[in-house]
Amino acid sequence: MKILVTGGLGYIGSHTSVKLIEAGYTPIIVDNLYNSKKSVLKRINEITGQQPLFYEADIRNKTDLKPIFAQHDIEAVIHFAGLKAVGESVKKPLAYYEVNVYGTITLLDVMSEYQVNNIIFSSSATVYGDKNPSPFIESYPTGNITNPYGWSKFMVEQCLMDLQKAEPEWSVTILRYFNPVGAHPSGLMGEDPQGVPNNLMPYISQVAIGKHGFLSIYGNDYPTKDGTGVRDYVHVEDLATGHVCALQKLNQSGTHIYNLGNGSGNSVLEVVSAFSKACGQQIPYKMMPRRAGDIAAFWSDASKAQKELNWQAHYQLEDMAKDSWRWQQKNPTGYPDEE
Ligand code: NAD
Ligand code: UDP
Repeated sequence: MKILVTGGLGYIGSHTSVKLIEAGYTPIIVDNLYNSKKSVLKRINEITGQQPLFYEADIRNKTDLKPIFAQHDIEAVIHFAGLKAVGESVKKPLAYYEVNVYGTITLLDVMSEYQVNNIIFSSSATVYGDKNPSPFIESYPTGNITNPYGWSKFMVEQCLMDLQKAEPEWSVTILRYFNPVGAHPSGLMGEDPQGVPNNLMPYISQVAIGKHGFLSIYGNDYPTKDGTGVRDYVHVEDLATGHVCALQKLNQSGTHIYNLGNGSGNSVLEVVSAFSKACGQQIPYKMMPRRAGDIAAFWSDASKAQKELNWQAHYQLEDMAKDSWRWQQKNPTGYPDEE
């Protein structure tokens, strides 16, 4: 069964492509290489023994997409492609709305034309905004979002729900990820941020490898267990498996929304401690003021995914730290340009 994976060379898309192959699906990857490298394909091949078909194409461009849909009998689309840096989205909102919202609408138009009515969309816990109490549940109202990235996810969710209402044959699955971290246990695939990472785990990894002298901890005066921010970290391998589980909804029309998270929160200091243990050295850190726009704490209720998709996160924080460290050690400068 052919599954089109947009953004399939990226962090979550590459891990999901591996899981798809392992589950007997045929991923076809579309990516414009904005935030990824072609050498990921070889790594997928090294892990699975199969190299997925790859199209260098932009989701905003119908003339890129149409020939792919014309050539292949595509059963479903898993849609990862997009821009994801929260801070950058505040500075360049139009770029975020263009790629994430317009790009998705363009993709949906082409899917309609070729009668491909099954989509799994990468959304984010950010759509819950800053007013809901944790754990976040799928039925909570969304909104009160503090940045254009989050609003772009909110808007796409709305587009998908409206489309499904208008054309009931569509099967729409919206997966709201919490904080994806970790890497493939082989150390062959992982997160490869360009420039200085904004997210916690990749920044700590780069401190451990000596790229930065210390970690800045943004806030130690939150009303949390140790004063630092609390998040629901979920291993990228678990997340990838969640997409394979979601494919079972393929032939059930409707809109299906699921949180993918561990169902509990860890503080920044707990992440630092797990990583220090994994790499065998204390990660140096300094306490800094809070980061603008940050929420003190949030985590998921992931019981709906467990009940309906038979999905549950298995990896613990220690595994996430170990796997991130293995990837960082084996690939101190990320993926090579060519392999
Ligand atoms: P990523 O940047 O590693 O992967 C996205 C991929 O999309 C990249 O390979 C990039 O080159 C590609 N891409 C970007 N614009 C494109 C375009 N116009 N046409 C074709 N390809 C394009 O990001 P990721 O962490 O793997 O995230 C995947 C999805 O999950 C994104 O939609 C992101 O918003 C969402 N998400 C990520 C996180 C996270 O923390 N990583 C959390 C919640 C949701
Ligand atoms: N964080 C930190 N230092 C960093 C990056 C992040 O203290 O260099 C904290 C941040 O304030 C939050 C947690 O780590 O409490 C997770 O941040 P990340 O950016 O990874 O995820 P998000 O805030 O988007 O959930």
